[in-house]
Amino acid sequence: MEKQVKPTVESGPRPTLTFQQKRRGKPPRHLADLARSERREVVSALGYPAFRADQLSRHYFEHRTIDPAAMTDLPQAQRDAIVTELLPPLMEKVSEQFADGGRTLKVLWKLFDGAVVESVLMAYPDRATLCLSSQAGCGMACPFCATGQAGLTRNLSTAEIIEQLRLNMVLAESGALGKPVRITNVVFMGMGEPMANYPAVRGALHRMIDPAPEGFGMSARHITVSTVGLVPAILKLAEEGLQVTLAVSLHAPDDGLRDDLIPINSRYKTAELLDAARHYFVRTGRRVSIEYALIKDMNDHKWRAELLAAELNSRGHGWAHVNPIPLNPTPGSIWTASTNVATRTFVDTLTEAGISTTVRDTRGSDIDGACGQLAAEVVDRDNVARRAKKAQEAVEARLAEHRTEPENLADQLAAMTAGY
Ligand code: SF4
Repeated sequence: MEKQVKPTVESGPRPTLTFQQKRRGKPPRHLADLARSERREVVSALGYPAFRADQLSRHYFEHRTIDPAAMTDLPQAQRDAIVTELLPPLMEKVSEQFADGGRTLKVLWKLFDGAVVESVLMAYPDRATLCLSSQAGCGMACPFCATGQAGLTRNLSTAEIIEQLRLNMVLAESGALGKPVRITNVVFMGMGEPMANYPAVRGALHRMIDPAPEGFGMSARHITVSTVGLVPAILKLAEEGLQVTLAVSLHAPDDGLRDDLIPINSRYKTAELLDAARHYFVRTGRRVSIEYALIKDMNDHKWRAELLAAELNSRGHGWAHVNPIPLNPTPGSIWTASTNVATRTFVDTLTEAGISTTVRDTRGSDIDGACGQLAAEVVDRDNVARRAKKAQEAVEARLAEHRTEPENLADQLAAMTAGY
């Protein structure tokens, strides 16, 4: 009989899914919140020529600056007024942590109302990737995630998402990671569920992709939006005509486990989610990434790899790519790394079934654990310590629990793959 560790929250009752923001305060209006025509209207209303808005936008998106002194093509008498109106400060750095020999930098940012978010900048030989946050906190309540335990504080505005990118561009291009590099890739895998903040994330995608003076002019193909499975938003994104990559944080192929592991699964089941992901591929031509954190004895069984392969193959071939994600070994925690043997078996099972699979490079693993950890610690260190103690108790309580593979699994797999 295979061991089955079940997910459990690490303190108190399970937090509930929430889409309600605790705070409603709006950050100040910012150039990056506005379309080009709206920026021009704001500048005209100040009594200046509309084209000044385009000049300002180029300073922001091309030169990454908000310093009026650097904007020498704007008349001195107009600079301060235009900058004050359209480039209010949105966040300040609270702390930073380097890892991976200085090639990874995690920054904690404080927003105008005291809410905190984090970003992680990762340098590669010729480029850098930024992992950014789309919400302060998160309402998705995933039991393995510190951010999820704290709940949703509020959605970020488009400009708050974009400002994380600009500030990190300044860091990367000034050599903070050893030598100057450009951020070419962005992943929405920091705090928050991007699809639960759809309008602001959609706006941010446009600012990233649209060329200056509209935005940064980045390649859409190098931008990844991840989701735990808000199906209606996936379907909406599929119709936007954007070539961004969709990453689905699946972590389990069966509803029995996924209902506990990813609470939104109680609303949108695995099959519906995979159908939506497949639809995204059909509409955009972009192969979907399936993220799968391998957790020892919880979701790393061979039969689950077989089931995952069958679920993907039953919807066609070549449309999805699986990224198993190794966790850090965390002795005594239920959220600990799969053994090397289990990892290899899982990957081989997928590969043999024709599923393209790449074990993901996990950066920053010597800083903290999952997304949101750093912010959670700063916000409430005592609570984190309490959670660790509860987790230990939960391990004791759960160790005796086992779950076997479904009796009719072979029949289920055969039925799903019939015709392929
Ligand atoms: S894992 Fe992601 S979606 Fe789940 S609670 Fe954490 S931040 Fe939210």
